[in-house]
Amino acid sequence: MALAQAEILEAVNRSGLSGRAICLHSSLRSFGLVEGGADAVIGAFLSAGCTLIVPTFFYDSQAAPPPGWWIPQNGLDPKWVAGRKDPIAYDPDANQITREEMGAIPARLLERPGRVRGNHPSDPFAGLGPRAAELITAQSPLNIFGPYKEIYAGSDAWLVLAGVGLTAATPIHFAEELSGRRLFRRWGMRKDGTLCATEEGGCSEGFENLAPAVASLENRIAVGAGLWRIYPFRKFIDALVPVLRANPSITHCGDPGCLRCNDAVKGGPRV
Ligand SMILES: [Zn+2]
Repeated sequence: MALAQAEILEAVNRSGLSGRAICLHSSLRSFGLVEGGADAVIGAFLSAGCTLIVPTFFYDSQAAPPPGWWIPQNGLDPKWVAGRKDPIAYDPDANQITREEMGAIPARLLERPGRVRGNHPSDPFAGLGPRAAELITAQSPLNIFGPYKEIYAGSDAWLVLAGVGLTAATPIHFAEELSGRRLFRRWGMRKDGTLCATEEGGCSEGFENLAPAVASLENRIAVGAGLWRIYPFRKFIDALVPVLRANPSITHCGDPGCLRCNDAVKGGPRV
């Protein structure tokens, strides 16, 4: 039987998420069949008074750096730079998204009236709900995690991994930044066709290594056919920062040729 919006709403309420800011990372497929699809999931959170914050990254806007620009230890592959042609300008009012990586729920959220989208060409967050504007407008090309900084500083927010693991948990990149690791520098194309320097998180393939550090904070619930892993946002970040400081290589994905992991564990770009 298909999962109904009322059952998702019940899960939201039962988990103490109602009225909160929710950083949602999700695989709609993990839920099994959902009556109403992505809209029903979004609707459940909204009807509980939540503010949803989701990644709506758009990698086609990534541009090769201007000639001569180079920063050491920046996890940037010269071969990628050489092959990068014809970026697509990011327009916050359009619904451009790298859908296959972001998933159906962020893609659908972008189409909903009232959604707010961040000012970052390749890694914009989008928000919907009472606090969306306040949180999302904190993002800029060189402040990728502005929304997380707002959430961390003041609000009772939660991280929900719905059918995805820690490798999909973008807030871990924010924990990396708080731990003192510098974020990678990239370039992206804005709506007016000009390029701007941007901040970007690195490789997240090793993030499940951090599971033991946040295990005591985790609440696991079954929703439909899927599993939600739920964490209090600030405590989640606070648990990770000392671990990242003590053992930077814990985030390494294990591929000895991963430029981003190799440079990240050394502290990131020397800007
Ligand atoms: Zn890696």
